[in-house]
Amino acid sequence: MAKALPSLCDRYRVDDGRGFRLKRHDPGDSAGMSIDKEEARLRLRDGVARIDALQTMLYAQDRWSLLLIFQAMDAAGKDGAIKHVMSGINPQGCQVHAFKAPSPEELDHDFLWRTTRALPERGRIGIFNRSYYEEVLVVRVHPELLKAQKLPPELGVGKGIWKQRYAAIRDHERHLAENGYVIRKFFLNVSKDEQKRRFLERLEEPQKHWKFAPGDIEERRYWDDYQEAYEDAIRATAAPHAPWLVVPADQKWFTRLVVMEAVVEALESMRLDYPEIDPAARRAFARARAALEKE
Ligand code: ATP
Ligand code: MG
Repeated sequence: MAKALPSLCDRYRVDDGRGFRLKRHDPGDSAGMSIDKEEARLRLRDGVARIDALQTMLYAQDRWSLLLIFQAMDAAGKDGAIKHVMSGINPQGCQVHAFKAPSPEELDHDFLWRTTRALPERGRIGIFNRSYYEEVLVVRVHPELLKAQKLPPELGVGKGIWKQRYAAIRDHERHLAENGYVIRKFFLNVSKDEQKRRFLERLEEPQKHWKFAPGDIEERRYWDDYQEAYEDAIRATAAPHAPWLVVPADQKWFTRLVVMEAVVEALESMRLDYPEIDPAARRAFARARAALEKE
């Protein structure tokens, strides 16, 4: 068993965006913890086992769904966090969707269409690796992308569009919450220096070459614009039913622990239980048991 340590996720949870300042969140923070790799591994392993047990109940009960949204700058560790935290859970109860630049078919619909189709069913965990938040992040940083979205000019698309989109996202998440989705949104907060270090590592190590995309260096030039867009998006959309977790991402072991604990917390908030068996079913079980024992 890993040692008991104080709860991590409260520290990074933002459920009221008023006055939110990204600058006040240190990407290198580790809540004063300096546990060794072995300790982190044990704690993660215990958490993953807990997620697995809770996920079985989630599936059996078939009422709630868990929606986990991951957003971050490149090389912040989204893929690794998803892989580590979800390892060991039943793949049938969990689906990961990655959202890249939209296809022509996706551009022929409103901006919530493609993610709505990918929402998890009741009893499941759905993971969005990027999401509709890109519509107020990359699209805001590069407003020329809006042109490809073919919005009718009569609607007078102007600067007000970001406010409109924040409101649409807030309404959408409220609607989901009112229909049984538990939502957690993760911003993996990596520093510009650490991103540089990870890019250089990708360039130096042959086994990491595949992770390197020259375009990522281009995007790095817009770092400050992205930080501002993230800050505004978190401010506008953090809510008790759809909190953001601003997770320090300069140390991978710590990122994974915080994400793991937040997933455990989200599942525990559902107060899951196995479904009650009604008296008729109980009698049928007794008959089945008798029949099996007679064989
Ligand atoms: P990795 O780099 O680790 O493989 P990734 O999530 O960065 O993972 P990429 O294929 O590199 O995957 O990038 C996806 C790109 O698609 C990102 O640059 C993202 O900003 C962009 N993208 C996602 N959604 C939209 C959108 N709605 N409009 C325009 N671009 C988008
Ligand atoms: Mg990328």
